[in-house]
Amino acid sequence: MADIEKKSGYVALVGAGPGDPGLITVRGMKLITDCDVLVYDNLMADEYIAVSNATEKIFVGKSSGRHALPQEQINELLVEKAKEGKFVVRLKGGDSFVFGRGGEEINSLTKADIAYEIVPGITAGIAGPAYAGIPVTHRELSRGVTMMTAHFAKNKNVELPWKALANLGHTLVFYMGIASLEKLGTSLINAGMSPDISAAVLERATTGSQRNVIATLGTIAEKCRESGVKPPGLIVIGDVVNLEKTLKWLPERPLEGKGIMFTRAAKSQYKAVHMLRRLGAEVLDVPVVKTVARKNDEAIESALENLEQYKSIAFTSALGVDIFFEAMHEKGMDVRSLSKHILAAASKTVIGALKDKGVIADVTPEKTGGGNLAKILSASGLEQGAKILLPRSSAADNALPESMIKAGFDPHSLSVYDSVPTDLSWLKVKLNNWTPDAVAFLSGTGVNAIKQAAPQLFEGDNQPLWACVGHKTAESLKQYGIEADILPQIPDVDALAEVVKAKLA
Ligand code: SAH
Repeated sequence: MADIEKKSGYVALVGAGPGDPGLITVRGMKLITDCDVLVYDNLMADEYIAVSNATEKIFVGKSSGRHALPQEQINELLVEKAKEGKFVVRLKGGDSFVFGRGGEEINSLTKADIAYEIVPGITAGIAGPAYAGIPVTHRELSRGVTMMTAHFAKNKNVELPWKALANLGHTLVFYMGIASLEKLGTSLINAGMSPDISAAVLERATTGSQRNVIATLGTIAEKCRESGVKPPGLIVIGDVVNLEKTLKWLPERPLEGKGIMFTRAAKSQYKAVHMLRRLGAEVLDVPVVKTVARKNDEAIESALENLEQYKSIAFTSALGVDIFFEAMHEKGMDVRSLSKHILAAASKTVIGALKDKGVIADVTPEKTGGGNLAKILSASGLEQGAKILLPRSSAADNALPESMIKAGFDPHSLSVYDSVPTDLSWLKVKLNNWTPDAVAFLSGTGVNAIKQAAPQLFEGDNQPLWACVGHKTAESLKQYGIEADILPQIPDVDALAEVVKAKLA
């Protein structure tokens, strides 16, 4: 964060993208993670709130029974927090400058002499059509794209230039127009646009539950009424809509409309979550613990100073590798200090992490044909009684050192990072408007964290399906008097997701 002046207060306006949690910029994600204060409103992707390390997460949007904070108050809030010397991220759906009132917020920052930056986001008007297989421009079909709001509620007398729009030959993309769809269609047709031109309405675009209604300008309003389309949605009008027939790429969605809460550790990303989203589920990815590196730690210092007493160093996580190397570098040491050690890596990920540091692991399950670390170290010819250093999580259990002792070695665990619970207060806001059909747990820690943050899920008759990765996790759920509904045959995330899919489809 060297380029951010934290001391004088700073605001970043970050575009959160249209809904798919993968559609945010790298810069945006970094700032969300590192900020002190996160100011957000209704977003289509809530995970960003979960991963933020902000000490204040302030929701300023609409939720059931509660109005959104008026724009002037949001402007004031940003100024106030920045003046406290905080680094503030103002997170908005799509792009802040596309119907996002970003300009108004910047005006008040400028008046208060507060430094800011803009991180653009992918706007729904481009991403939504793309997810429906509709390019907003296309050679010979559309010479341009005009994006506008069709929100007429407050300014009933202000009309769009219908004649100009009808004759432009552009793709027309309307934001905030679902409620005015009827009026919009008749206005364009009265202005001379053909009622046969193709039109699409894209509901909850780029999320797991995106729904596309394809019709013509003359029939779109009726078709949307029949299928009960609700905001947020985009209206796209133009010949490009026809391309959807050949360019459509999203797979079938057997889980459409289903909500799944998936708990996990902060750093892990699961293919399983991606798979469930692709099948149409709205997956709320909830990190329940995050890892914090130990800094200026006496035990680490001492292990590094006495590195030569260890014959081997066994790494069990990529994070362990990163933190160990960082601690070495801080002490002015580099890979040369490891030239005499047998370096073991427990998995492919760890092998990769070591490679990133320029180190090829000596002992890996791949080279020795699998098995646990103790076995592969024995097979590598490490002498009996050899001291092995294990830089790992303070929460790691005794299974690995015990197996090493059994194999005749002398293991020394070195805690290089801790797992701490994440702040889940944002979950309450989310659950005001959303109920999961299934909740998946990967650990007892997850069960306890969700029980604390969202006790209402555990009450009443209308409970979600409870999915646990294994028996240990299911035991934790039992403490609260709940039997797991879903338990895969093997304790594995992908297997868990498969059973959830089968139950919900
Ligand atoms: N700044 C946002 C737009 C905010 S205005 C952006 O750049 O995307 C809110 C309107 O955006 C909604 O009424 C709807 O028309 C559109 N919108 C935002 N996200 C959407 C989504 N995922 N699917 C469909 N429409 C969306």
